[in-house]
Amino acid sequence: MSSKLSRFLSLLFVAEHNCLLCDRELPAPSRYRLCAPCYATAFEVIGNRCCLKCGKMLLSEENYCLDCQNHDKAFDRAFSPVSYTGGAVKLVTGLKFHNKRYYAEPMARWMTDRFLSEEIAVDVVLPIPLHPNRRKERGYNQSELLAKTIAQALRLPLDVTSVVREKDTLASTGLTGGRKAREENMKGAFRLTAKDNIKDKVVLVVDDVITTGATSSEIASVIKKGGAKKVYVLCFASTREKPPIQEGY
Ligand SMILES: [Zn+2]
Ligand SMILES: [Zn+2]
Repeated sequence: MSSKLSRFLSLLFVAEHNCLLCDRELPAPSRYRLCAPCYATAFEVIGNRCCLKCGKMLLSEENYCLDCQNHDKAFDRAFSPVSYTGGAVKLVTGLKFHNKRYYAEPMARWMTDRFLSEEIAVDVVLPIPLHPNRRKERGYNQSELLAKTIAQALRLPLDVTSVVREKDTLASTGLTGGRKAREENMKGAFRLTAKDNIKDKVVLVVDDVITTGATSSEIASVIKKGGAKKVYVLCFASTREKPPIQEGY
């Protein structure tokens, strides 16, 4: 089947009342469109006990994850409702690579609820832009789909023009060499095209997943150079902190 046709069909036949993960019919309306067993077992919900910088689930009693203790990031704080495990991996990859655009709305609702629990006031919502080549290939920007619902829910303007992606960066998951390579890969990836929308504003950047924070940090530094007061980042999922290597194993 051509990808255009399958895209069209997937828009027509979206099971509104079925669980996004297991596809079983939902007995009652569900805010995140998940059945109770999937919600209870397939996700690691992070809550407020998270790294005060990047929002990752904390494995220690510290206030910051090991990475944030050792590396500065240009954004003020980042949040995600869940860890990048199990069900979250399925939702993120479905939305990003398998054209499951209808995942975006319930995912964004979960993100909005997480953000509202922090009671932070923001002025504008800005999705991480895709490079035009990628956008053409995929047909849509998954972060923009998430950001659209979030902006509506928060009654804030959605800004999809002030920052563009100039460099067709490699997928950071395919990079070897760790943090340094990721940071190098992201350098100069974004360019500010207009300052008016972000000058003196508090900006909420939206992305699907936060891993090392290299992407969010790079776009935050570009936005801050343009005069933004603060930059917060809201993602659906954050990768888990690596547990310390256990002695003797
Ligand atoms: Zn289910
Ligand atoms: Zn952190």
